[in-house]
Amino acid sequence: MEGDQYSLAKQELRRQVVIIGSGPAGLTAAIYTGRANLNPLLIDAPTDAEKQTTPGGQLMITTEVENYPGFSEGVQGPDLMVEFRKQAERFGTEFLEEWINRVDLSERPFTLFTDHSIIKAETLIIASGASAKWLGVPGEAKTPKGFGGNGVSACATCDGPLPAFRNKRLIVVGGGDTAMEEATFLTRYASRVYVIHRRDKLRASKIMQEKAFRNEKIEFIWDAEVAEILGTPEHGVTGVRLRNTVDEEHFTLDCEGVFIAIGHKPNTDLFKGQIEMDNVGYIKTSHRSTATNIPGVFACGDVQDSVYRQAVTAAGTGCMAALDAERFLDHLPVEMPTGEELTMEGEHITPDHLRIIRANGEVILNEPEVACVEET
Ligand code: NAP
Repeated sequence: MEGDQYSLAKQELRRQVVIIGSGPAGLTAAIYTGRANLNPLLIDAPTDAEKQTTPGGQLMITTEVENYPGFSEGVQGPDLMVEFRKQAERFGTEFLEEWINRVDLSERPFTLFTDHSIIKAETLIIASGASAKWLGVPGEAKTPKGFGGNGVSACATCDGPLPAFRNKRLIVVGGGDTAMEEATFLTRYASRVYVIHRRDKLRASKIMQEKAFRNEKIEFIWDAEVAEILGTPEHGVTGVRLRNTVDEEHFTLDCEGVFIAIGHKPNTDLFKGQIEMDNVGYIKTSHRSTATNIPGVFACGDVQDSVYRQAVTAAGTGCMAALDAERFLDHLPVEMPTGEELTMEGEHITPDHLRIIRANGEVILNEPEVACVEET
């Protein structure tokens, strides 16, 4: 291939552990594999305002994080990520800030191609995260361009409890389960929560809809889209300009906070067609480990989690991925999504744990050999 001819001039790096992504999951995996003397190489996308990428993941676009354990007074998201990174550096993590153009997961070592390097990885930990979807309307961009971080958020659990939103009128945009969950959660703090939905029917599951309908603090505004988020640099958000999707009329709603809840997109385009994903694009992992369907490839954090999506759960699965990769490199069995366990040499342990199938096809019983003890 043309790209591969060009790539002959690139530097080739060979590593036991390569981690993609520098959010809480990737950096936790780096801390653990670094301490295990595996000299991890962590690759992340360079900062790019247009593509909305920032090393450090979603916490880099959050302000105060109050729910990360260990910080009783809270911590700024970017400050927390600086600490994660320093800790990973302390244990020998090597960082590479480059776009990965292509990966080849068809054989081990796996190969990653960037503009300047070809990277060969014995094990790969995918921690490329997920990105909140945004509306793309005026006023939504990060401050100082808009009010992102100053009244506009894509995470109610992260930002809802902040003093700036207490006893305030807040809006939630979206009609799915996330929007219902976030609206319900925000009623703990807000004086009123308006759900803005572009149609007259919700996409959310019945149980989540009913919970939101029953909540007296929630008001639904149907057939409406946000055309613009209004505010001032001093006061942050002061309202939204809405467009009725039926008669195209515009009207203004006063509020002090805007929560966008129109879904997330896992950052998995790079791996499409090579690894098992669900229909939204989240990577499938084993229920008891971070193993994917490819032996030696592990996934952690939001790239494989559409449910919890918290910094602490991402860090937790980052730790799991590191331990799984270490086990695999130590030739110990790791549980695969099928329930069977697999070692680096290709030995399979059946899901019922009764048999071991060796790489050459030989089947043996998974029983400890009985030691002969000589009586003296
Ligand atoms: P979702 O189901 O895709 O819903 C997204 C919502 O945002 C839809 O109502 C959609 O409107 C609206 N929307 C999308 N783009 C928009 C735009 N540009 N402008 C205005 N509105 C827009 O996403 P989700 O709610 O994040 O849920 C994702 C998955 O996670 C689902 O499978 C959900 O069940 C699951 N989840 C489960 C729980 C739970 O069980 N506790 C909680 C959260 C999420 P339309 O309806 O018109 O398309």
